[in-house]
Amino acid sequence: MTTSKQFTATILGSPRIGPKRELKRAVEKYWAGNLDRTELESVAAKIRRDTLESLAAAGLDSIPVNTFSFYDQVLDTAVLVGALPPRVAGIADELDRYFAAARGGSYDGIDVSPLEMTKWFDTNYHYIVPEIGPDTTFAVNPAKILAELKEARVLNVPARPVLIGPITFLALSKAVNGPGAPLDRLAELTAVYGELLSLLADEGVDWVQFDEPVLVTDMLDNTAELAERTYDSLASLPKRPALFVATYFGELTDALPALARTPVEAIGVDLVAGNASAVPVVPELADKTVVAGIVDGRNIWRTDLQVALGTLASLLGSCAHLAVSTSCSTLHVPYTLDAEDDIDAALRSWLSFGFEKVTEVVALARGLNEGREAISAEITASNDAIASRKSDPRLDNAQVRSRLSSIIASGATRGPADQRRAAQQEHLDLPVLPTTTIGSYPQTSAIRVARAELRSSQIDAAEYERRMKAEIAAVVELQEDLDIDVLVHGEPERNDMVQYFAEQLEGFFATQNGWVQSYGSRCVRPPVLFGDVARPTPMTVEWAKYAQSLSNRPVKGMLTGPVTILAWSFVRDDQPLAETAGQVALAIRDETVDLEAAGIAILQVDEPALRELLPLRSKDKEEYLKWAVDAFRLATSGVTDSTQIHTHLCYSEFGEVIGAIADLDADVTSIEAARSHMEVLGDLNAVGFGNGVGPGVYDIHSPRVTTTDEVAVSLREALKAVPAERLWVNPDCGLKTRKSEEVTAALRNMVAAAKQVRTSA
Ligand code: GLN
Ligand code: ZN
Repeated sequence: MTTSKQFTATILGSPRIGPKRELKRAVEKYWAGNLDRTELESVAAKIRRDTLESLAAAGLDSIPVNTFSFYDQVLDTAVLVGALPPRVAGIADELDRYFAAARGGSYDGIDVSPLEMTKWFDTNYHYIVPEIGPDTTFAVNPAKILAELKEARVLNVPARPVLIGPITFLALSKAVNGPGAPLDRLAELTAVYGELLSLLADEGVDWVQFDEPVLVTDMLDNTAELAERTYDSLASLPKRPALFVATYFGELTDALPALARTPVEAIGVDLVAGNASAVPVVPELADKTVVAGIVDGRNIWRTDLQVALGTLASLLGSCAHLAVSTSCSTLHVPYTLDAEDDIDAALRSWLSFGFEKVTEVVALARGLNEGREAISAEITASNDAIASRKSDPRLDNAQVRSRLSSIIASGATRGPADQRRAAQQEHLDLPVLPTTTIGSYPQTSAIRVARAELRSSQIDAAEYERRMKAEIAAVVELQEDLDIDVLVHGEPERNDMVQYFAEQLEGFFATQNGWVQSYGSRCVRPPVLFGDVARPTPMTVEWAKYAQSLSNRPVKGMLTGPVTILAWSFVRDDQPLAETAGQVALAIRDETVDLEAAGIAILQVDEPALRELLPLRSKDKEEYLKWAVDAFRLATSGVTDSTQIHTHLCYSEFGEVIGAIADLDADVTSIEAARSHMEVLGDLNAVGFGNGVGPGVYDIHSPRVTTTDEVAVSLREALKAVPAERLWVNPDCGLKTRKSEEVTAALRNMVAAAKQVRTSA
């Protein structure tokens, strides 16, 4: 990062799945045995080369390498430090071993269960959770870094290897086979990183980036002390490159002075999630490089260059050198706006995707080096965009705003829970231990073909509707055959549980090619929530009505909750999230009212992302949980007491949000519990939860068909915590990723178990 320029430009990392998801396609073909190793490697090498060349051409002074990944950067780090689990050690081939750790499977006759996967901080990216136990023996394995470095050298690119730092790596790992915490091994792992540094110094590497996002959270209780100790030790090595500790997703608080006291050469601060005023108050930064994360790396709004220059100027006296950067890796945003040709000019001018962010960083550094005049064209374009965004009528829908405030003022509450229970029991007349499913049924190839043919105009909307209705009819018939009590329509018409709604709501824009890696080869296309949200017409009513017309049993109406819609979109940054959540909640509320009027007696509002948006700092949690709960209640309180509201939660540890789950006050909550062995029921009891609950009785993430006895055992266990009148019987999540045969067999066993337990309960 040191050049003759006074101010330099860099980014912390970049997308790697390929602008057209080339890596996803190649990796999936390789897994299926339809692509050989050489072809896979060449797709990967091309992605890396194109990335390096485009970043260099854009004018970055220092370019991250070792940021490519076949699956995940935390898993790559486990390989780097020799921390793959012993159960994959017997797999001879290195890449097979890597994929086995990520996804499990059968290799060389060895059956391997995968490592767990969980959310990367408060993003929708999932990393692989390393397992650290007494038999983990750390050792440097630098092959990947050295290879990527060499590729960069060939291209003459100023490369800076990026590593996940030891504190973050261990904090995100899971302890296995013993009582010790992974962080107990910090000194030992730091020594291994030290060896790597000396190796990189031998290679002539001048800078290394250590990513330590855990330092902006409250996950550890001695964050500052760990940071100081670790980077003191690494920076005191006799032979090493210059060290840059990158932090992102929040404010460092006392870890900033702690890091600044160590001899590391550069410290990265997130000025989007954090605040520039934290820098001038740390005198130890005076002789360091501050890497200013001023361009938002994880949202898609264009940077206000004039404001950014002002912020950067406020740091000038406080450090020896300033590097302009994105706030975090641009892994979390799509590659480029160029791939979108269906956006109106105004909206396009407000946006900045991965590549455009690089040009913003470069422009800012140039503005600092050469003066504002040198980038006056860029500043004018940025000012125009900001002004256009501020004055756009789509951001200020007076009708939405006044309806929202009057509904909030009127209370937006439902009757007391016991009164609702009585009204619903009369209305629905369900057996004890009612059986149901979470919403989706297998997304068959017929469904995917129909969607593709509609998109390419091979079929018209009427034919598409006919095919979807056939899918719905088949799913309803299946559920009746299986004797399930509360049916669903199966969600065949939904490409995705957020995008489906975003496409129908005002205030959202659905990209064509805005793919972002979610985990491994899976990519999502988060919609852009840019304006005030309104629901021009009903979104799900026709499908629900059709499904209900086929059966005398209740069919649930399925909706996605406001928090989840926010969590899986790029959200406007010009007003508090709570306000945006209220608008989305109002749109969902409008839909519930229409569904009820159409004769749908049970509505499910899914909130699987409730835990995901939980702030990283304890002090911010309460406020978040309050608005999240308020938004759910606003969405679900427009119906009468006899309409039963369900919600569904999954994908997370619920510990910290368990009180909020109870506060949602849904009549029935289905919750992932198959793998957490029903502990969640005890946790719910502990916070006084007294409504219906359906702890998942089997794990839909596995192809294995759970037996009737296994389900019955789970149900009996659940009955120890919850009385039969409150207990529901359901799988732990939607069934869209499973094969039809698996689903039929598993549900048959689930219903049989419910009947067995009912007679003995
Ligand atoms: N109703 C959705 C489904 O069944 C819920 C998905 C989810 O929990 N993520 O697919
Ligand atoms: Zn789920």
